[in-house]
Amino acid sequence: MTDTWNPRTKAVHSGTRRSQYGEVSEAIFLTQGFVYASAEDAAARFEECGPDEFIYARYGNPTVKMFEDRMAALEGAEDAFATASGMAAVSGALMSMLKAGDHVVSSRALFGSCLYVLEDILTRYGVEVTFVDGTDLDQWRDAVRSDTKAVFFESMSNPTLEVIDITAVSEIAHAVGALVVIDNVFATPVYSKAFAQGADIVVYSTTKHVDGQGRALGGIVLGSKQFIRKTLEPYMKHTGGSMSPFTAWTHLKGLETMDLRVRAQTTSAQAIAEALQGQSGLKRVVYPGLKDHPQHDLVAHQMGKGGTMLALDLAGGREAAFRFLNAVKIGIISNNLGDAKTIMTHPSTTTHQRLSDTQKDTLGITDGLVRISVGIEDTDDLIADLQQAVNAARL
Ligand SMILES: *Cc1c(COP(=O)(O)O)cnc(C)c1O
Repeated sequence: MTDTWNPRTKAVHSGTRRSQYGEVSEAIFLTQGFVYASAEDAAARFEECGPDEFIYARYGNPTVKMFEDRMAALEGAEDAFATASGMAAVSGALMSMLKAGDHVVSSRALFGSCLYVLEDILTRYGVEVTFVDGTDLDQWRDAVRSDTKAVFFESMSNPTLEVIDITAVSEIAHAVGALVVIDNVFATPVYSKAFAQGADIVVYSTTKHVDGQGRALGGIVLGSKQFIRKTLEPYMKHTGGSMSPFTAWTHLKGLETMDLRVRAQTTSAQAIAEALQGQSGLKRVVYPGLKDHPQHDLVAHQMGKGGTMLALDLAGGREAAFRFLNAVKIGIISNNLGDAKTIMTHPSTTTHQRLSDTQKDTLGITDGLVRISVGIEDTDDLIADLQQAVNAARL
C-alpha cells in the first residue's frame, strides 16, 4: 500500500515502527546496544541480523531505521543508510566504492568539503580524479574512460546555481559502466526525480531542508539494496560515521513538514527573484526559476521548480555586498541553508574563501555575490526588507 502513496503522505508515515506502547510520535531509541534473550540468540543475530533486529547503534538503530526507510520511500530508492553529517555521506559513498587505480570524473563547481574529498583525499589513495565544467556535456564525454568507476556532481551548484543535466550525464557515465553519484542538496527531496533520471546513488546533507530548522547535522546515502548493504554499510559501520538516534528523530519530525516548508520557500524565492530583478544596485539576480537563467528549461524539466536558493550580485563588489548584508533586518548572516529562517552568505569571504582568485573567477564567485537561502517568513516582508537593503548598499 505504501508504495502507491504520494510523497507528502510518505514523508509523514513511511517507515514508522511503533513499539508495544503504540506511541503517536516516533520513539527515540537512545540506546547504543541491544539485549539478547539468550547466548544462542546473540550468536544467531551475529550470524544473520533480521530486519527488526539490531546489534549496535553504529550498525543500525530503530529510530535511525525509521528515518532511512522513510527517506528511501520518499526518494524512490531501494535502500538507504543514514550518516552523521552530509560529508560522512559524500565521503562514505565514494570511499566505500573506490580503490587505488580507479578513475572518477567530477564537476568542478562543488561544495568546499566535497572538493577536498575528491581533490585531496581520494587522490592520496591513488584514485585519479578529472574535473570538468559540469554544464558542458562535451567535457563529460571527453573525460570518461573505460576505467571510470564513478561520476560525481551537485545537481545544482553552490553558490552559483548552475544546473547539471542528470539524464544526459547519466547516459554518458553508463555508456562506460560508471556509477552516477549525485549530491542533491539544492534540488531537495521534494523536487528530486534523480533515480528516475538516471542516478545510481543519491546523497543528501540532511542538515539542510530535511532537518530544516537548524538543529542537527546529518546525511544520507540512497541507492540499490546491493550497494547500500554490501558496499556502503560495511564501510560505514566499521569506520564510525553512522547517524545518532537523536538526530534521526529530529529529522523524522523535519520530514513531516518538509514538503510544506520547501514549497513555501520556493514560492517565495521565485517571487523575490522576480521582484528584485532589474533593481538598481544589482548586477544580476541568479535564480533557476527566472526565464533568463541559462538553464531555465532544464530546471523546469528536471525539478519542476527553481528551488529555495537564490543569489544576488551587487554592483559595487565586496563593500556593497557587506553593506547589503548588514542592512538586512529579517535574514540572518550564517552559512547553513534550507532553514526555516532566511540565511545569507557572502561565499567569497566565507564558504569559498579557500579558493584562489582564478578558481573563483572560473566558478563565477564574484566579490559582490550574496547567496540567499529563502526561509518560511512572509514573502512580502522578505521582499520589502531585501529591497531596502539593496537600496542601502548603493552609495
Ligand atoms: C552542506 C552541504 C554538504 C555537507 O553537509 P554537512 O551536513 O554540513 O556535512 C555537502 N554538499 C552540499 C551541496 C551541501 O550544501
